[in-house]
Amino acid sequence: MTDRRVDVLIAGAGAAGLRAALAAREAGAERVLIVSKTESGVDNCSGIAWGGLSGAVGGADADHYASVLAEYSEGIAQPELARKLAEASGPALQELASLGVQSQVHRAHLTVSARPRHPGEGLTLPLLRRCQEAGVEFAEPAMLVQLLRDDRGCRGAMVLDLASGDYCRVWAGATILATGGFAGLHARNDNPAGTVGDGVALGLLAGARAIDLEFVMVFELGLAEDGCPQDGCYFGPAVSAGLVTDDSGLPLDRAQRDEHWRAASLDTARRDGRYDLWLDLTRVTPEQWREEKLALVRREILLDLPVADRPVRVSPLAHFTPGGLMIDERARTAVPGLFAAGEVAGGVFGAGRPGGGALTDAIVFGAVAGREAAEYAAARPQAGSGDAVLDLPFVEPGEKGRLPSEVLSEIGWALWNYVSLWRNGRGLEACLAWLRALELPASAGSVAELRALHEGRLGRIVAEAAARAALLREETRGRHHRRTDFPEPDAAWQRNIIWRLSEDGQLAHEEV
Ligand SMILES: Cc1cc2nc3c(=O)[nH]c(=O)nc-3n(C[C@H](O)[C@H](O)[C@H](O)COP(=O)(O)OP(=O)(O)OC[C@H]3O[C@@H](n4cnc5c(N)ncnc54)[C@H](O)[C@@H]3O)c2cc1C
Repeated sequence: MTDRRVDVLIAGAGAAGLRAALAAREAGAERVLIVSKTESGVDNCSGIAWGGLSGAVGGADADHYASVLAEYSEGIAQPELARKLAEASGPALQELASLGVQSQVHRAHLTVSARPRHPGEGLTLPLLRRCQEAGVEFAEPAMLVQLLRDDRGCRGAMVLDLASGDYCRVWAGATILATGGFAGLHARNDNPAGTVGDGVALGLLAGARAIDLEFVMVFELGLAEDGCPQDGCYFGPAVSAGLVTDDSGLPLDRAQRDEHWRAASLDTARRDGRYDLWLDLTRVTPEQWREEKLALVRREILLDLPVADRPVRVSPLAHFTPGGLMIDERARTAVPGLFAAGEVAGGVFGAGRPGGGALTDAIVFGAVAGREAAEYAAARPQAGSGDAVLDLPFVEPGEKGRLPSEVLSEIGWALWNYVSLWRNGRGLEACLAWLRALELPASAGSVAELRALHEGRLGRIVAEAAARAALLREETRGRHHRRTDFPEPDAAWQRNIIWRLSEDGQLAHEEV
């Protein structure tokens, strides 16, 4: 095992991580290292995002944006975080031009664009270039598997090189988690692979708290065929052109689909793909397929599926998780030296967010985290002075047993079947029993499986917290937490559920 020392360590190379790295360099941190599981700036939610950023721009002021955020939060956002986002959004969006980001400004939002299905790269690639010019270092593909901490706080992280399978201790003056959300942990989702909530569990294991994990935003309908992108954002023209049916071929309009899914959620027996439907595109004419938007769907998403011969499998897709690690306005978690920004952090949006809010959140709190981390690192003694207490569950590639990737997939189905579109007490209990019964293998036979082993180890913590929070919240709050057994909102539940790990490693919650 090797050791490395940096001033600021950042996990994640989406909008939040890249913006944080730039801010850390601007604030004087000399050695800034970004570690990313996937290709920096490209293979993450930020890169494939639709490219909309909302905020106080284009004639809209901070008060206006604050009221928009409030409308979506269902009354449970952390007020100081929402206020911070509203106030900082205008300057942060205006500053993008000076960072090389080209955009079009509209009232209360701006848009960036790049290649088809990757408009978000119009934001991330200029940020990536600026980071490279500023001397930010990159390690990819590599994964944080454990935070290092001692009684003074976070001292860096254990990093797994996903090419070689080697571990490295990265000692850091300050550490920022910018690892994205956990919608990708659900079996049906539109996130890039690996967006499975590592950072939330890493933070919890190190002593941080997590908030609002019960909410998940679900895209209404996207493609769900193996070997094709699970895409909801760009798939709309296909849904409009075709006919959505159930297994028996019965056409379902929007309201009927929702009722179909509600009924499917009541089945507590294991039935994967319970929300799957079919999209019949066999009657779409060649002329229609030549229309620009449909041609793009055919080329980029449907690939070589025989759409003229058979219906294609479609499903709602988990899209975004507003909950995550608890932070304050300075992006600090409860652990000294540990910061979080972007979708990994919770509390900014409460139970839901407006369109374009997530990217704005990533750049606003990314910049805050980078600045704060640089200042924290400068004020602390040299990182990795040797007295950190290590408690590392080492997992080396070893003999084969049940594949970790299979267990990871089971976690995804448990979550999707019971903690997605609709929830109910019996289903949530079934989900928890399922999660608790899952046994992760003790080792993996390849580096890819080693990654899945760590993702499963971390993902199970997040999934259990999400299911338990959904069970506790005996009400329906907005569209992202709907209980069939508690279909109405309950004013008594206008509060948050906060998670931490107790000393014996069990999830414990408080309601505030
Ligand atoms: C299809 C789609 C379209 C969207 N469109 C919009 C939009 O138009 N506007 C909007 O505001 N929001 C949109 N969103 C949401 C928005 O894209 C995300 O919330 C936002 O990009 C999150 O940014 P992030 O930097 O926090 O995380 P991400 O961009 O997801 O980046 C996470 C990074 O962390 C890395 N990582 C994860 N775990 C680890 C680990 N253990 N160790 C090291 N690295 C790790 C990943 O490899 C990746 O580099 C969209 C989302 C999707 C999926």
